Amino acid sequence: DVVDTAAESFEGLRLRAVTKSFGAFEAVHDLDLDVPRGSFFALLGPSGCGKTTTLRMVAGLETPTAGTITLAGQDITAAKPYHRPVNTVFQSYALFPHLDIFENVAFGLRRRKKADVKQQVADMLELVELTSQARKKPAQLSGGQQQRVALARALINKPEVLLLDEPLGALDLKLRRSMQIELKRIQTEVGLTFIHVTHDQEEAMTMADTVAVMNKGVIEQMGAPAELYENPQSTFVANFLGQSNLIEGTIRSRAADVVSVEMHGIGVTVPTERTHAEGDQGWVGIRPEKVLIGEEGEALDAPGNTIPGGVVTDVSFFGVSTQYLVRMPWGQELQVFEQNTGRRRIFRQGDRVELSWRPEYAFLLDHSQDAE
Ligand code: ATP
Repeated sequence: DVVDTAAESFEGLRLRAVTKSFGAFEAVHDLDLDVPRGSFFALLGPSGCGKTTTLRMVAGLETPTAGTITLAGQDITAAKPYHRPVNTVFQSYALFPHLDIFENVAFGLRRRKKADVKQQVADMLELVELTSQARKKPAQLSGGQQQRVALARALINKPEVLLLDEPLGALDLKLRRSMQIELKRIQTEVGLTFIHVTHDQEEAMTMADTVAVMNKGVIEQMGAPAELYENPQSTFVANFLGQSNLIEGTIRSRAADVVSVEMHGIGVTVPTERTHAEGDQGWVGIRPEKVLIGEEGEALDAPGNTIPGGVVTDVSFFGVSTQYLVRMPWGQELQVFEQNTGRRRIFRQGDRVELSWRPEYAFLLDHSQDAE
């Protein structure tokens, strides 16, 4: 094993080679993770990928089968939940129904016989904008307000790390959106490390500075939201973070940082940082909003990649955008999202079109990285 000399100086939360098995089943496999102090970190993945199990190990509610968890250089792998400076906010709020909002928030302080309870609770209620609701019972509040009480109750214990397990899962879409903004504001204000578990890609991308995409117990890719979106490194990440068109192709030649790929008889250019050999199979990925749709021969984005011979099979008008499905000559349907500026014609089902995109907008995935 390599001795990690930086471990002592890393202020954040660090997981090293963490595995969790339930019987013969490995829910989390050999996970390495660094969460910098003060960051808003999202663990994103589909149901069953192991994100809650990971969170529960950080909280101390599960013990890793192997590996270590450190916080600011301290090994907390085996520490009891109440001995680690970590608090969790669950989707189910878990508020005390018989206590009013003030007492719900005060609970942790009273239990630890802290002084100055009144002022601290007042500050906390102000932070979550619930000062006027202090004497109500949880049942008298909306879902979003209850969620903010749960947040205040966790934050008042001044944890170093706040874990959020699908905290917005029970809210309707509109409330979710405003709570996402609210959570981000609160995190910035208190400056604590937030680790947010969600299966909602939009939620992860809009709130977090760093997103770790989990699949089948491992982290497939980790990075800033825009980096993951623009540069996915597996078909799983490409599909999980938004919509992707993935077109099969064969690499015909390569230059320094671009490759020429033949997709069903059509040549396109794709940037890549990885090494590929001629003859390798891969996927050319292009996001629907990066594809231009035009009349045949219109050459909208010359000298970009142009794919002729499409037929519009579906048109959905969304006001701000129009979304098309276009059947290509090889039978695959590609998605195109076009911003409605009012200056472009809207195509109809059955129209013959060509698609084009600028080479730098596409990404290339190896067949070997195709986990699905
Ligand atoms: P979800 O969003 O549905 O909660 P998740 O990504 O959080 O999914 P986990 O709850 O971490 O997933 O579960 C990962 C896998 O481990 C699942 O297949 C689950 O069935 C299994 N698992 C979790 N806890 C246990 C347990 N106590 N005993 C046995 N299997 C478990």
